[in-house]
Amino acid sequence: MHSSKSSSPSGKLDGAFGIYIHIPFCKQACHYCDFHFSTSLKKKDELVNALAKELVLRKDEFKNQNVDTIYFGGGTPSLLSIEELQFLIDEVYKIYDVSESPEITIEVNPDDLTHQKLNDYSDSPINRLSIGIQSFFEEDLKLMNRAHNSEEAKRCLEEATKHFDNISIDLIYGIPGMSNERWIQNLETALAFNIPHISSYALTVEPKTALASFIKKGIIKNVDDDLAQEQFHIMIEKLEAAGFIHYELSNFGKPEYFSRNNSAYWQGKPYLGIGPSAHSFDGKNRSWNVRNNSKYINSLEKNILPIETETLSATDKYNEYVMTGLRTIWGVSLEKVEQEFGEKYKTYLLEQSQKHIIEQLLYLDDGKLLVTKKGKFLSDGIASDLFMLN
Ligand code: SF4
Repeated sequence: MHSSKSSSPSGKLDGAFGIYIHIPFCKQACHYCDFHFSTSLKKKDELVNALAKELVLRKDEFKNQNVDTIYFGGGTPSLLSIEELQFLIDEVYKIYDVSESPEITIEVNPDDLTHQKLNDYSDSPINRLSIGIQSFFEEDLKLMNRAHNSEEAKRCLEEATKHFDNISIDLIYGIPGMSNERWIQNLETALAFNIPHISSYALTVEPKTALASFIKKGIIKNVDDDLAQEQFHIMIEKLEAAGFIHYELSNFGKPEYFSRNNSAYWQGKPYLGIGPSAHSFDGKNRSWNVRNNSKYINSLEKNILPIETETLSATDKYNEYVMTGLRTIWGVSLEKVEQEFGEKYKTYLLEQSQKHIIEQLLYLDDGKLLVTKKGKFLSDGIASDLFMLN
């Protein structure tokens, strides 16, 4: 929605977009997860062919724009063979214009990251790893039903840092039973590996997950929001002291190592989501694919896109911009709100912000609305107060 599509002298549009490829397979189900995946790999071959087919069928949606990032997410993309990954990357290059130095990320799980895999990845165009560490402690990994153990989490980072410098890891805080001391140890272990990017989320209890049912039955203690908030602030302090920039609510990067894929997304740039359950955004419309592997494959075998689309209204776009803007260091630009949505939206935004500015949860800096340190953990709630109702 916010990409500039001005023509370059060559007549080409200079906009860029990202391609997200969803790999919907996992070895086992983590107790807290509500992403789309299957633990049966029976349809892997058909799925990979369907992904390639979708790449072809959607080639005209982002005409004359360059692919600047390719992101293999999931699920667990490290369950694909290097040949399958390379095949999909080759297809992207064949069908689309790819920029000169795209960021190509793969999400991997520690238990898959063998020496051979790392060698294969570093010989391929993949240039960024996002590793699902989540915790270095056995009790946390067990509670979440992760497929790896504490030993594997450390071993894989030791190996991965020998092959890649652009590495991100995921860590989860607010896990029932996790003390602040244990969380600090997790952060210190991560820092010892000198990786340049950390994504970190509070454990959330999504409906219909195994975690939700264990909590309901009293088998696992519920998450403690106050403790999660403390751990969030501990993380900011520790990571900022170590030279990380807290550039998005859940993301910390050393300078030059922010995720290009996610930053583009948070700045409202367009992206093409391939695969079951993947979402896309072309600047005006949002679309999403069917969340079922068999339906996805069957539809693409018939050359039909298994997709639903909605056109975003100005209000939808404004609300989305406020939501994502407040989560990032780029904030919400008053000028942009006025230019893209009109004076009415800017006035409304300023009026609605007043209460939060007085409470020191928001502040204005150089025409941008940003959350204060105190407001950071609450940014989604604050954003909803600034939403325009349809
Ligand atoms: S590996 Fe990732 S996608 Fe798969 S079940 Fe666990 S959290 Fe969900």
